[in-house]
Amino acid sequence: MATVTQQSVLESVPKGLLIGGQWRDASGGKTLAVDDPATGEILTHVADASVADGKAALDAAVAAQSDWARTAPRDRGELLRAAYEKITERADEFAMLMTLEMGKTLAESRGEVAYGAEFFRWFSEEAVRIGGRYAVAPNGATRLMTMKQPVGPVLMITPWNFPLAMGTRKIGPAIAAGCTMVVKPASQTPLTMLALADLLQEVGLPDGVLNVVTTTTTGEVMEPLIRDPRLRKLTFTGSTPVGRKLIEQASQQILRVSMELGGNAPFLVFGDADVDKAVTGAMLAKMRNMGEACTAANRFYVHESLAEEFSAKLAERMGALTLGRGTEDGVDVGPLVDEKSRDKVSALVDDAVAKGAKVVVGGSAREGAGWFYQPTVLTDVPETADLAREEIFGPVAPVSTFSTDEEAIRMANDTEYGLVAYLFTNDLSRALTVSEALEFGMVGVNQGIVSNPAAPFGGVKASGVGREGGFEGIEEYLETKYVGMAL
Ligand code: NAP
Repeated sequence: MATVTQQSVLESVPKGLLIGGQWRDASGGKTLAVDDPATGEILTHVADASVADGKAALDAAVAAQSDWARTAPRDRGELLRAAYEKITERADEFAMLMTLEMGKTLAESRGEVAYGAEFFRWFSEEAVRIGGRYAVAPNGATRLMTMKQPVGPVLMITPWNFPLAMGTRKIGPAIAAGCTMVVKPASQTPLTMLALADLLQEVGLPDGVLNVVTTTTTGEVMEPLIRDPRLRKLTFTGSTPVGRKLIEQASQQILRVSMELGGNAPFLVFGDADVDKAVTGAMLAKMRNMGEACTAANRFYVHESLAEEFSAKLAERMGALTLGRGTEDGVDVGPLVDEKSRDKVSALVDDAVAKGAKVVVGGSAREGAGWFYQPTVLTDVPETADLAREEIFGPVAPVSTFSTDEEAIRMANDTEYGLVAYLFTNDLSRALTVSEALEFGMVGVNQGIVSNPAAPFGGVKASGVGREGGFEGIEEYLETKYVGMAL
């Protein structure tokens, strides 16, 4: 296999819009620049779609829908399986591309490639398990049958933080279910999605089933699609404010929606927990993706008997991490995605410190090029600090204490979000009681990562509606039709 270099991956990725199986330039000829967050320099340019291009992409998805819905489930499954194999074969290329446009280290990008590809393998197996049911009506006179059918053309809008996996966990079940789609990746990280679309064409996905639109005039290009009655579903992963706006637009035609939105994960360490295991879990829950994950632990609540030991050990691990460009050897933590994200993290830390928090390690941005922020541990963080309410989306761990289980549960639930919570305890009964009391869609018990393609990922409250992955993931792309038959 040829050596994977920055230049080779940047040259090989298509730069156009994929519409109806053809790669084409934007109709206005405009392009958008993709930056390297480690240097702030431009890596390359891709097409910048106009409103007409967006409409053409939906036209193509609509035109392909009925034939695609009729394909054999096994064929759709085999296609996903072939794509899984190819992504795995080309893991180094995908990892390099992702590191270049998003910033995380190559090791982390490889982890995302494995995780992202796994959605294709999982849904390749689910494609052939779509079924309905048959029942005798309670009065015995009629028969009740249900059948599952693809929802229809889907619009998928994805964020920059997991450029591959946030796409595959939507595209996988849509292909398995027989839906066509228009995908719009985040403008910071379009390259990984363009490479994925190219690979799907290579394994034989029919023209028009997957169309990709990259644009800087996002709202203008997306809104007409969301309001187009031919669109049957909108699936969005991104921030809660944008999700809210899209739900409003979707309400016009009662569009089916799935929303994977923001999080504000609490991380609870009870007095009987194994501190070293909790610290290892905390490193994963906090530092995966430099803290730029909706599942990132945002608030650490530690029982007062363990707080000092936990904070000291966490600070030691955080302080030992090496910052640098994700492509370099020996680097543990890459840059944040852009200047705005870096400045937001700085402002949240400054606010917490002004309100009384103490900096144990880190506490500031790194000087020089790129959007780096030092891994940071704060203690004595008051509940009034902004970072107790807002997603930090950076490598900052604020630690507070609690004295009773009730207090821990109250603080954990005191947020508009409800995506994921983590808890560490050696008491089985406490683990279950607290899991039941937490108002979150997912709970990690004695583990700092919950994401798994075989499990239903998703939140409650302002963290969204719907589930991705698991048996539930394909249901989001299927309609249930009931046929009643008299004998
Ligand atoms: P974002 O600003 O909401 O952007 C997400 C996507 O929405 C991007 O593709 C963006 O396009 C697009 N978008 C922005 N404004 C739009 C509009 N008016 N109409 C249509 N599309 C629009 O979020 P982000 O900063 O990229 O991602 C971080 C957020 O995602 C965090 O809140 C995180 O918690 C959340 N997230 C949630 C999950 C989950 O599963 N719950 C997973 C990952 C991330 P442009 O790039 O062109 O603006």
